[in-house]
Amino acid sequence: MNEEGKTIFITGGSRGIGKEIAIKFAKSGYNIVTNYVSDKTDVEKLKTELKNEGAKGVIIEKADVTNSQDMETLVKKAIESFEKIDVLVNNAGITKDNLLIRMSEEEFDRVIEVNLKGTYIVTKLVTKYMMKKRKGSIVNLSSIVGIVGNSGQCNYSASKAGIIGFTKSIAKELASRNIRANAVAPGFIETDMTDVLQESVKENIFKQIPLNRMGTAKEVAELVYFLGEDTSAYITGQVISIDGGMS
Ligand code: NAD
Repeated sequence: MNEEGKTIFITGGSRGIGKEIAIKFAKSGYNIVTNYVSDKTDVEKLKTELKNEGAKGVIIEKADVTNSQDMETLVKKAIESFEKIDVLVNNAGITKDNLLIRMSEEEFDRVIEVNLKGTYIVTKLVTKYMMKKRKGSIVNLSSIVGIVGNSGQCNYSASKAGIIGFTKSIAKELASRNIRANAVAPGFIETDMTDVLQESVKENIFKQIPLNRMGTAKEVAELVYFLGEDTSAYITGQVISIDGGMS
């Protein structure tokens, strides 16, 4: 349980994997701070849901991870309300798939900006406070395609491979301050992001997954929880795959 009043800052916690991660930490009584971008998000409903799951305090705001000023305001609000941030999960991510030959600069830039630069922006802001406390755990959402590549996703794969290099570097920089950084690399997980795939595409994917099914957001949340908590205190700079044996 959350006797110390622990806080998790998770980007993109309004739905999919991010929401399941928020729920998992809420069940242990964490304070939850999160952001999202979609206008359709029902903030009050999500707040109530997280509190009902056990979250002590909840802050949810519409803020783009690529806007460093908005993110700084949200991080400051988290510190003012909850005093420290114990766990940072960089989860917000987008895809804009296309074959290289057809990929526009806008498609390439935006995916790198949200997935990779957004991770840098938020990590830098939160790390400042973790350093003061000499404690923290950072978990970044990479992807299997950042390790093995994927046709039609050169922008997304590059962003997710970039997250791996970023994570390994900051793990080395921050270890002396007792701050850990790890990445998780999910395979195909049932969420809105993969919902858009055609049935024929999904069947083809299943053939490549030894466990013969997609993973669930809950399964990813369990892994992120383990990496966020002190049960993984001697693990840093790692990329943990959660992909049904795909890689
Ligand atoms: P999703 O599309 O369901 O949710 C993404 C979340 O990120 C939403 O809350 C959205 O509001 C937020 N977001 C998007 N752009 C943002 C921005 N600019 N600023 C702030 N928030 C923003 O996605 P998901 O499937 O839950 O994926 C979550 C993470 O896991 C992503 O980083 C994704 O790349 C990664 N991942 C997903 C899968 C999968 O199969 N679903 C596999 C590997 C990795």
